[in-house]
Amino acid sequence: MVTTSRRVERHENEPDSVGLNPLFARPGEATELPKFRLPAGESLPETAYQIVHDEAMLDGNARLNLATFVGTWMDEHAQRLYLEAADKNMIDKDEYPQTAAVETRCWTMLADLWHAPDPEHTIGTSTIGSSEACMLGGLALKRRWQHARRAAGKSTERPNLVMSSAVQVCWEKFCNYFDVEPRYVPISWDHKVLDGYELEKYVDENTIGVVAILGVTYTGMYEPVEKIAQALDRIQETTGLDVPIHVDGASGAMIAPFLQPDLRWDFAVDRVASISTSGHKYGLVYPGVGWVVWRSADALPDDLVFKVSYLGGEMPTFALNFSRPGAQVLLQYYMFLRLGIEGYTRVQGASRDVALYLSGEIAKMPAFELWNDGSDIPVFAWRLKPDHTKNWNLYHLSDRLRMKGWLVPAYPMPADLPDVTVQRVVVRNGLSHDLASAFLADLREEVAYLDALTGPMPAEAHHPGFHH
Ligand SMILES: *Cc1c(COP(=O)(O)O)cnc(C)c1O
Repeated sequence: MVTTSRRVERHENEPDSVGLNPLFARPGEATELPKFRLPAGESLPETAYQIVHDEAMLDGNARLNLATFVGTWMDEHAQRLYLEAADKNMIDKDEYPQTAAVETRCWTMLADLWHAPDPEHTIGTSTIGSSEACMLGGLALKRRWQHARRAAGKSTERPNLVMSSAVQVCWEKFCNYFDVEPRYVPISWDHKVLDGYELEKYVDENTIGVVAILGVTYTGMYEPVEKIAQALDRIQETTGLDVPIHVDGASGAMIAPFLQPDLRWDFAVDRVASISTSGHKYGLVYPGVGWVVWRSADALPDDLVFKVSYLGGEMPTFALNFSRPGAQVLLQYYMFLRLGIEGYTRVQGASRDVALYLSGEIAKMPAFELWNDGSDIPVFAWRLKPDHTKNWNLYHLSDRLRMKGWLVPAYPMPADLPDVTVQRVVVRNGLSHDLASAFLADLREEVAYLDALTGPMPAEAHHPGFHH
């Protein structure tokens, strides 16, 4: 998920150089550095540091960002580990065999947590985030389908992937980059998520798989994996097509095992071939780590796997990137050891309590109607009641909240509900009860301000500059 700021584009009159505060300029040093060209000369480290430090300070305050799912806080021991491990390259398994071993331990723990039949003999990997993890899951589905089609002497020309219209953008990218036809099942008031309804209209012999999202980005709702699997069972009975599921558990795969331990969504459902998650969302690690695990080693076709050298031998890898940081993997391991099942349950439970408190209070406000209440992942969305006002909408409210520092995006829902605008709050570790109360106070104040308007807000102030 990416939030775009209106400030990121280069402005027409933007100066070409960064000026140095005279307080930091040393005698004889340049006091201006070019912004878009590599400077001709050197700077003192202190000077360069000060400039970068000051630039970065202008970024938003992560604590008030209720839009992102990504972790923005880790404790001091994690910080220390991060510094110690900053030089480690994940691909260099020969040089950093211990980091490689830790990576294997992490995905094996996830395989176990997600009820893989034989966690120690399956296969998984760390990635740079869920996007890469989803690409790998999708590629495995595509290759498996191709093998089966070739073996049956059938065409491999036109693979398709079936998913909700509310998928995260990484699935659109997967289909675009790897030449797979996306088949979007629209959402509606009756079917707010992909739930197996009319699935037979979308699935055919060219379907490589179905994506089920555990924690839809737009709203935080779970797609009922077991129900989708049952719909696919019925399709198999009538057509013989055996269609696997990839669970995109970017958020939910690190929530459901702790908050909904009885929900059947993972490898306990036979049709689930692979599961991905973002370590940097509810895995509680800084940005830069995701995970994907297959039900069993044979769910990942051999011809997608490369070998890298490892302690004089070879280790199988499957990844889009080559070099990437190893530190985040160590940080994930730290979090797994530090929290365990008990700790994750406590931390995620606290986020859910805050989400339910917030959604409960927002539901009481006469202007709003909840879309969901945050009882799946601690994320929920609401809309303006259709007959509440003609003077303002959720984009205006989002702007007003931004003036107080809160980032709470408003955006249209995907097909078939693009006329519905919602606003969403993502509750993460760090959004305390206190902070939530402060947010509610600001929300009430801004709604009161807008409700007191005697005429409509200007319509051109709409900026749904938000990407899922
Ligand atoms: C965030 C998200 C992604 C992408 O994850 P990254 O880790 O940001 O690459 C994919 N799918 C869903 C459902 C998400 O919420």
